[in-house]
Amino acid sequence: MTTSSGPWRRAADAAGLLSERGDVAPTIFAEMSALAAATGAINLGQGFPDEDPPAEVLAEAREAIARGENQYPPGRGAVGLREAIARHQAHHYGIAVDPDREVLVTAGATEALSATLLALVEPGDEVVVFEPFYDAYAAIIALAGAQLVPVPLEWPDFQPDLDRLADAVGDRTRAILVNDPHNPTGAVFSPDVRELIVRLAERHDALIVTDEVYEHLVFDGSHTPIASLPGARERTVSISSGGKTFRATGWKIGWLTAPQDLVTAVQTVKQYLTFTGGAPFQPAVARGLGLPDAFFEETARDMGRKASVLGDGLRAAGFAISPPSATYFTVADVDDDAVAFCRALPERAGVVGIPLTAFSSAAHRERYATLVRFAACKRIEVLEEAADRLAQLRGSTR
Ligand code: PMP
Ligand code: GLN
Repeated sequence: MTTSSGPWRRAADAAGLLSERGDVAPTIFAEMSALAAATGAINLGQGFPDEDPPAEVLAEAREAIARGENQYPPGRGAVGLREAIARHQAHHYGIAVDPDREVLVTAGATEALSATLLALVEPGDEVVVFEPFYDAYAAIIALAGAQLVPVPLEWPDFQPDLDRLADAVGDRTRAILVNDPHNPTGAVFSPDVRELIVRLAERHDALIVTDEVYEHLVFDGSHTPIASLPGARERTVSISSGGKTFRATGWKIGWLTAPQDLVTAVQTVKQYLTFTGGAPFQPAVARGLGLPDAFFEETARDMGRKASVLGDGLRAAGFAISPPSATYFTVADVDDDAVAFCRALPERAGVVGIPLTAFSSAAHRERYATLVRFAACKRIEVLEEAADRLAQLRGSTR
């Protein structure tokens, strides 16, 4: 890949994302999906479903194209989608947001995260992040010139230690970035952790930025957004997207909800990143957000069933796993160097996974050195086939 120059290259360097040759390397997801395509392996690496979005959601996108909704939507997002987001927050979480002032539609959660951090964080500020973390976080924080302060999540339950969390937050902390439910571990943070995050943010006058893209993939029970906790709403930017909930990761319709002044600040950056996008997909996601509760419940249950099939397969192959509470993902301990294991796995077993080191800062790779993330967002028969293939590793030298 030709290396980029300027701010992105400096940011990638600061975030430890340059390859050994000094290039800005392709993301681990792109690298592993290319490996799956080249070898014909089952791709349990990059998290994308192999089933279509709900029929009503697909139909709405087609109808929106046919209706001519193909030009720039408003900068804050189509009114119908902003209203659907506000109704969704009220209905599922009891959070009241004003669709005109407190909602911003973005190009996926990724743009919501980028625009939020670039708008609200100053060079030199600290951003507290739970490690392992989604790869874009380090790149964006570095682009903002800020310092990433990691709080480790450790095998097997991946809950942060409360003292370590308290130590990480201080007066230089501008934001605590919370991905709950958590990629790559599948963990859901305990109520204690959420409450401490809010107390620490209040004490140090920090913002809370949440990444809740897996909000509807909690297997048992329901998701608790941090913004629903006392004292949180006025300092929280809550981010989500339609990609995971509606099995439409390629549509890139995301959003954030926050107090008006924060939304306005974030929009000043967003307007120069993409300005706006995804016109016909906005009404489609609006339709999805209004689906009956039964849809959301069945989506979460279905993902739970898939995670069990994958987990059983990984155990049968001889690996210890950390049973996930949510998300697409299950982490296994392969008792081997995870990077070498993942590079060899497509040839050895016809399966692709992602080493957890790809989600950590250079200083902490050791902690995650034997852990591999596998994605369960595939049809049951595909997961069973992957399990059979992995089972063949048993007995072969690992
Ligand atoms: N955050 C997390 C934790 C993710 O796993 C992902 C990946 N899908 C994203 C953000 C990006 O979401 P989107 O595709 O909506 O940009
Ligand atoms: N969020 C997806 C994952 O964690 C992939 C995102 C991407 O390819 N950048 O697998």
